[in-house]
Amino acid sequence: MKGFFASGFFAGARRLFLGNTDILQDVASQNLGRLAYIIPIAALVHLLHVILFGMMTPSSDAEALWRAGVIGVHFAGMIGMALFYAVLLGIRRRGQTEGRAARWLPNIIILVVLLEAMALVTFDQHVTSNITPFVVICAIMAVVILIRPWLSLAFYLLAYLLFYIGMGLIQPLPEIVLTNRVNGLSAIAVGICASLILWQTNKRNVIQQRKITDQQAKLEKMNQELAALSETDELTGLANRRRFNKTLADELARHIRSGEPLALIMTDIDHFKLYNDLLGHQAGDDCLRRVAAAHQKCAGRPYDLAARYGGEEFTLILPYTHAAGAVRIARVLQDELAALKIFHPAPETQGIVTLSMGIVSLAPTQDVTAEDLIGYADAALYASKSGGRNRFTVSDCRRC
Ligand code: GH3
Ligand code: MG
Ligand code: MG
Repeated sequence: MKGFFASGFFAGARRLFLGNTDILQDVASQNLGRLAYIIPIAALVHLLHVILFGMMTPSSDAEALWRAGVIGVHFAGMIGMALFYAVLLGIRRRGQTEGRAARWLPNIIILVVLLEAMALVTFDQHVTSNITPFVVICAIMAVVILIRPWLSLAFYLLAYLLFYIGMGLIQPLPEIVLTNRVNGLSAIAVGICASLILWQTNKRNVIQQRKITDQQAKLEKMNQELAALSETDELTGLANRRRFNKTLADELARHIRSGEPLALIMTDIDHFKLYNDLLGHQAGDDCLRRVAAAHQKCAGRPYDLAARYGGEEFTLILPYTHAAGAVRIARVLQDELAALKIFHPAPETQGIVTLSMGIVSLAPTQDVTAEDLIGYADAALYASKSGGRNRFTVSDCRRC
């Protein structure tokens, strides 16, 4: 039992009153949000008190003292609220809603308001025995501002200590001093409990919200990875047919709007079946990867796209590119491949792997479809094949 209290109760109490510093930043911005509309209301309430008490004509010395005290406290409170609001606006303007100032402003306000309530009821004792302002403020402040439990305990106890002393100094009737001290104690107990409960509830909400945000971020990342995977060719790492189709449709629509030329190059490895037959599929795969990398190198501009169309066929989408530009890219690709010098053992070839290409470039009108573009490039590619391979042909945009 002793051990339980040593580690269980006290550790729990310690955690309750000191812990959760990691949620302070969230709490700070929540408090600032609340204070943004509560401070102006509080300032107005203070002003009304000053006006109402200013209009009152005291009928005794005690009432005069009371009136002066209440006006003084409310006037000071009003100035305080204006200052707090200025600080709050400054914090917001600098975007430091989770910083040190943002963390301390609500604490200072709660302390000031508790002390103000304590001062008010002390002045009230000149004419009445009730301590309503203290009771009301103890409860309201706990609900309005989220405050760390140990600070809440310290502030409420400090306010009560001053209240306790003030009551003894001002209130002449001992039985009322006792009643008020007891009622004041209940008021701070209610304040501390409400503040604790709200802090704990809020803590749970913040932690839960963080978990949800974390999970959402993870899901988002996984979705992005999945989307990237679903548009990537597994063997070569190039964009796959799906991404090619999507990009071509998008670019076509964009070029129809802008009237700029869109170029497409379709390429096909020459005698690749023989390459596979003579060197095996693994060497074939390796060759495909190297040829794919050469295509990727040629897709230099941000909107260019190199894709594997299927088998040993590749494509390059070249936005805002006229025929001469596309021909230049085709030559660069030919040079890239020549530089790779991938050995091809078939006698039908020139000893290295080569490409045949079909090129199309046009400023598309509304009636041009993606299939049309692919058809033109494919027909040009076919012309390259039948013309002897290892060459490119520019389409005249009439499908054969
Ligand atoms: P052409 O010069 O007329 O294009 O002749 P070709 O042999 O290249 O054309 P064909 O269409 O007859 O053969 C294409 C070959 O590409 C068939 C297949 O063995 C090979 N191929 C397609 N996809 C892959 C792949 O993912 N890996 C490997 N290793 N080979 C593939
Ligand atoms: Mg082919
Ligand atoms: Mg081929």
